[in-house]
Amino acid sequence: MSEENRIELLRKILKIASVNDKESQVANIIQDFLGDQPNITFKRVQYAPGRENLIIDVNAPTTQKRVLGFNGHMDVVDPGDTDLWTYPPFAAKITKSRIYGRGTSDMKAGVAAMVSALKELLAEDFTFNGGLRLLLTVGEEIDNFGARQLADLGYAKPLTALIVGEPTNHTMWYAHKGIIDFTATAYGKSAHGAMPQLGINAIDHLFDFYAQAKKMMAPILATTDPALGHTTFNVTLINGGNQINSIPQAARLRGNIRTVTAVSNQTIQATLQQAAAVTNKLPKHKIDLSIDSSIDAIASDAHSEIIEIAQAAARANDWPEVVTTGAPTTDASLFKSKCPNLPFVILGPGNNTAHQVDEYVTLEDFNKITAIYKNIIQQYLS
Ligand SMILES: [Zn+2]
Repeated sequence: MSEENRIELLRKILKIASVNDKESQVANIIQDFLGDQPNITFKRVQYAPGRENLIIDVNAPTTQKRVLGFNGHMDVVDPGDTDLWTYPPFAAKITKSRIYGRGTSDMKAGVAAMVSALKELLAEDFTFNGGLRLLLTVGEEIDNFGARQLADLGYAKPLTALIVGEPTNHTMWYAHKGIIDFTATAYGKSAHGAMPQLGINAIDHLFDFYAQAKKMMAPILATTDPALGHTTFNVTLINGGNQINSIPQAARLRGNIRTVTAVSNQTIQATLQQAAAVTNKLPKHKIDLSIDSSIDAIASDAHSEIIEIAQAAARANDWPEVVTTGAPTTDASLFKSKCPNLPFVILGPGNNTAHQVDEYVTLEDFNKITAIYKNIIQQYLS
């Protein structure tokens, strides 16, 4: 198969505006591209109408001792104001050395590279000594909906190693941070601004919670994780009150915590709950805390077999073999939650233009990562 075919596949899936929807259309293109082949099976797992996860299996993984997994997500983030883009975000505009569009880096180039690697190996009659499983998911950008579903259904269980094709900008990761999103709502009582004694100021009480939470989080933030550094804690949204001359009846803040393996998400959630409970002991305070999303930080051995194979494949393709860690979360957290010992590597084409205007991937990176994936499969399943 030629380079042209790979690029054609990538451009086709880029033209589907799968902004937290329409992943089934991406899956259809991929399934058509691979076509009917002996030893390959396709399975769809529906999340919602028009939104199916696609599982592509080679050699019935549940019957194999050694199974290499690949993971990628088929959804993309919103392009925002399309007027700001040099080329329309879903036109898959190709220039001499780049493809532009929403999802080029994050992460349809990674998905197209793994699918192309598989197709090319099949065309070359490579003997897969073990199983291969591609887990292509929906809704990763919102709350990893698809990966949660597939993990719960046991789809990661047969895997003995996992490659995630998220953009890693010429590095590979053996660990990445986790996340906790939370909302704290303070309830008070409205009153005329001239008679505050008749009301309960929800904004004041929300600040009391915030101060308490910061105090109780301090030792957690001071804990150093040898791989991932520190937990970070940021309030990123706040609103409350109705008008300038009224005592606010309600106020709300939302926070975004980036977690490390040295302090579990569970511990942090318990700390936040405790901060709310302590605040609620103050007179007339009523704070409700909800955890909106929680994804664990993950790490695996930086010298695992799959990392070493990936490094060798990188070397063979003139790609840096830098092994490091990343901040963004991936679907791998959900799969790891069911298979704690699963070794993994995050390695994909793409760069820091993910989630930005004028997102792109270079053709060179896309082609090299396809060759690296092929090489990894050949080595791992030789
Ligand atoms: Zn992504």
